[in-house]
Amino acid sequence: NLTTAELRAIDAAHHLHPFTDTKGLNAEGARVIVKAKGVHLWDSDGNQIIDGMSGLWNVNIGYGREEIVDVVAQQMRELPFYNTFFKTTHLPAIELSRLLAEVTPPQFSRVFFTGSGSESNDTIIRMVRHYWAAQDKPGKSTIIARKNGYHGSTIGGASLGGMTPMHAQGGLPIPGIVHIAQPYWYAEGGDRSPEEFGLWAARELERTIDELGADTIAAFIAEPIQGAGAVVIPPATYWPEIQRICRERDILLVSDEVICGFGRTGEWFGCEYFGVQPDIMAMAKGISSGYLPIGGVMVTEKVAEVIANAGDFNHGYTYSGHPACAAAAIANIKILREEKIVERVKSDIGPYMQKQWLALGDHPMVGEARMVGLIGALELTPNKKTRASWPVETGTVGLIARDFSFQHGLVMRATRDTLIIAPPLVISHEEVDALIAAAKKTLDDSWAEVKRRG
Ligand code: PLP
Repeated sequence: NLTTAELRAIDAAHHLHPFTDTKGLNAEGARVIVKAKGVHLWDSDGNQIIDGMSGLWNVNIGYGREEIVDVVAQQMRELPFYNTFFKTTHLPAIELSRLLAEVTPPQFSRVFFTGSGSESNDTIIRMVRHYWAAQDKPGKSTIIARKNGYHGSTIGGASLGGMTPMHAQGGLPIPGIVHIAQPYWYAEGGDRSPEEFGLWAARELERTIDELGADTIAAFIAEPIQGAGAVVIPPATYWPEIQRICRERDILLVSDEVICGFGRTGEWFGCEYFGVQPDIMAMAKGISSGYLPIGGVMVTEKVAEVIANAGDFNHGYTYSGHPACAAAAIANIKILREEKIVERVKSDIGPYMQKQWLALGDHPMVGEARMVGLIGALELTPNKKTRASWPVETGTVGLIARDFSFQHGLVMRATRDTLIIAPPLVISHEEVDALIAAAKKTLDDSWAEVKRRG
């Protein structure tokens, strides 16, 4: 029965938050979210808010699905924990691994379970190096990733990521990781057409491999659509060219599907949207729609066999395949399948929202509106032609807009001056209309505010 102010004070005194300016937080206090249902959140003051970010891009099936609660409770009564080390397994791990083999693209057959996206990517660093070493090619150990990519917060994940503020804290990246250009046409394309720029960005990979020597490179990893980096949707030329380069040079192609997986793009996996066949996929988030934490690394039979024939893979987490988390993932995947939620994103609610979202591109402060499936962004700018940024004195306009958005009952995320949206895949037509109305008001208020600031 504490007041919001009291809750905030306790939180500020005792809780160090991830990715948060703690000093700013102490002054304002954190929003206290108390419950959620469908696409809506409620805060401790009783405000109802549309969750335009699906939590952290993960609550794909929306909040409040009782079936998941029931199967998890039942699993916790039956077998709350057992491990999957040392030749043991359990029913949820067995069923989930078979389900994943069914819903992932045909080349995938086996999964290594983890507890999160970061753990999946850490696993991948060790796995790809082990894969080549097991074939007497220990020199193939460098991993190529991209600037502005996000692959998690562990030392491995943050090293694969190309976020310089993360590298600055803790002396990252670790050795053996190289970052190349991202296919961010709006910000970096210049005079080139998206198609030309997509090819150029992909060929950065070719140039880098050839410079370092293919016999030193283990893998290339990237998100199909870069999420945290500002929803960077690559031009159509990009991914097929990346695949060609990896195949020709015998480099493992790794798709980080932590955001794009489980329906976000209107396909089950982002690589399917772009028509490429990776060798390895990192998964988390939408695998359980966030009801419990779980992740996995999906591998082709070819990769699995090399690892299987090389003896022990000295790697694993206590919670690899945790029974209750696996039960939540199974129930989530069944809901995605039985309710045809992914198909609905592709042919119904995705196109319905895209039409209205792309129309926000007509607003005077929007330089580009983009969206695939139910993941999109608005690039804010004072000058649509030059795509300039605001002067430093104006402040970070993305953050100004994000705060207005919350006042209008909508959670959006900001990366610098880019506003990001990724609502639950179960959002209704009426809820999309309400979301778009709130986004419009957000733009109008933000435009008035930046003009006021001069
Ligand atoms: N990979 C991608 C593409 C992500 O977006 C994230 C998280 O946002 C991660 C990996 C890390 O996942 P986690 O936060 O579950 O460790």
